[in-house]
Amino acid sequence: MTQTDNQYILQGIGVSPGIVIGTAFLLDRAKLKPSMEKIPSEQVQAEIDRFLTAVAAARRELLEGHEKLVETSAENHGNQKHLYLFDVHLMMMDDKMLTDDTVKLIREKKINAEWALSLNVEKIKKIFNRMDDPYMRERQDDISHVAERILRQLMKSDYDSIEKIRKDVILIAHDLSPADTMQLNLKKVKAFVTDLGGRTSHTAIIARSMEIPAVVGLERATEMINGGNRLIVDAIDGRIIVSPTEEQIKSYREKAQKHLFFQQQLIQNRHLPPLTEDGYTIELAANIENPDEAESAVSHGAGAIGLYRTEFIYLNRSDFPSEEEHYLTYKRAIQNADGREITIRTLDLGYDKLSSHHFHEDTINPAMGLRGIRLCFKQKEIFRQQLRGILRASHHGKVKILFPMISGVRDIRQAIGILNEAKDNLRRQNIPFDENIPVGVMIEVPSAAVIADLLAPEVDYFSVGTNDLIQYTLAVDRVNEHVSCFYEPLHPSILRLLQSTIEAAHGNGIPVSICGEMAGEPLYTLVLMGLGIDQLSMNPLSIPYIKKIIRSSTYKEAQDIVSQCLTFKVATEVEKYVAEEMRRRFPDDFLMNL
Ligand code: PEP
Ligand code: MG
Repeated sequence: MTQTDNQYILQGIGVSPGIVIGTAFLLDRAKLKPSMEKIPSEQVQAEIDRFLTAVAAARRELLEGHEKLVETSAENHGNQKHLYLFDVHLMMMDDKMLTDDTVKLIREKKINAEWALSLNVEKIKKIFNRMDDPYMRERQDDISHVAERILRQLMKSDYDSIEKIRKDVILIAHDLSPADTMQLNLKKVKAFVTDLGGRTSHTAIIARSMEIPAVVGLERATEMINGGNRLIVDAIDGRIIVSPTEEQIKSYREKAQKHLFFQQQLIQNRHLPPLTEDGYTIELAANIENPDEAESAVSHGAGAIGLYRTEFIYLNRSDFPSEEEHYLTYKRAIQNADGREITIRTLDLGYDKLSSHHFHEDTINPAMGLRGIRLCFKQKEIFRQQLRGILRASHHGKVKILFPMISGVRDIRQAIGILNEAKDNLRRQNIPFDENIPVGVMIEVPSAAVIADLLAPEVDYFSVGTNDLIQYTLAVDRVNEHVSCFYEPLHPSILRLLQSTIEAAHGNGIPVSICGEMAGEPLYTLVLMGLGIDQLSMNPLSIPYIKKIIRSSTYKEAQDIVSQCLTFKVATEVEKYVAEEMRRRFPDDFLMNL
């Protein structure tokens, strides 16, 4: 941070380009984590009523989820288990130990409902923890879920308030998860600014997909910025200017104009083929998170949808999506993709896509926990519903299936085994699907990259998830801004893994895509092309620029750059060399932020 007079300049990471001048709205995440507030005696009864209203609303929400599940359970026997869970949660919500004791705490200690509930829940969890019966010990998680449901109701005002905003704002938050952003009215949000996050965090991915400028990883933005502060958000250089001078505002308006002009120029070339000057081609595809984005992919010149992250169908709801819902959602995406091939990745839910107060405190290493395909193996019925939905959708267009978080041959065989069962069932029911639907694995766990030659014969294609591959190879948490300087996409280990993965794939006659954020970074385009990648899949917004780089270069140049990159021992040396090469080739493109 730098300070001059009464203004601050905060430096973070610009993850979705653009410049916005406006007013800060502080979404105080601290309020979402309960803190203690003393309540005056005369307000205690109102606080108890507020708590009981929240319990009733949470109960209604649970019942609605329960009813929906009952409707589908006739055809889905797997739902029985979830019905049972709903019953357990309903029982807990009605338990006097939860409600009466919380009311007692509010009354006796004169504290706010959120804090009283948290104290009570901790007490109940300790009681469960001391029980000998492992089943009862495991119920601690259910208590937390039930309490969280009530807390969300109690704290709803934090989310609602943003919906009531009439003027445009710059949203300042500690962290924004996909689950959070889905609850916000984003029409009035002109930029995101967060304490946490890096280039590959999901706030960044969402901001880019929604075309909202964003600066993340500021660490103390929520402390340093007050609601109502006038701000310049320069999401190109990752800079926030608090209380700017008139002169600064004028100069940033000019920069914003230039940026707009640059983007308009790029977009004009969006439908040209991604062909190098020496006639080499590489497919440019789009990453999407919902069916509507397929339209944006088409309008930005994508040749395919290289990654459809399906997690969003599962977020912010109390039940699981049915097969029918999956089917209809994917069918809509296929229609919007207008004949383009679409790669649907099966559920890859993990801690990084939930908000920080969501994940289990008792999971020390959630990134290495029950996520992605591992969760699907455990929750087979949820997995089957999705696979049947994807297979049915494949009857309506070109669909590929992609399995995330595969660590070895056993995983992929198990996933394909479950897929084959789903196919058999559909055949028996005479439900049509694409019998030759291509199946691929994400190469994002280092073990998968190391044995790419063993995995290649099992599948039809590879898709490299560099976000996770870098995270796991370099042991750098992708959502932790404190270690973001260690997150080095051009680290020699990553280059070698990419090179050997591509060789293994091509040696087995299958193509390789990159769908991590690296694919949409102009700085890396020639390196990835020179390595021989077949497809780059990125946020739709990046396609025109990446296309421009490809169209103004030769494959030979790209190969030469890669050969040079592979001679360095240190990531910063590779980065410096590539930056210089790119600056020399594209001196006017300030978006490159080199
Ligand atoms: C990746 O890991 O690179 C990837 C594309 O998947 P996600 O970002 O959804 O984990
Ligand atoms: Mg991943």
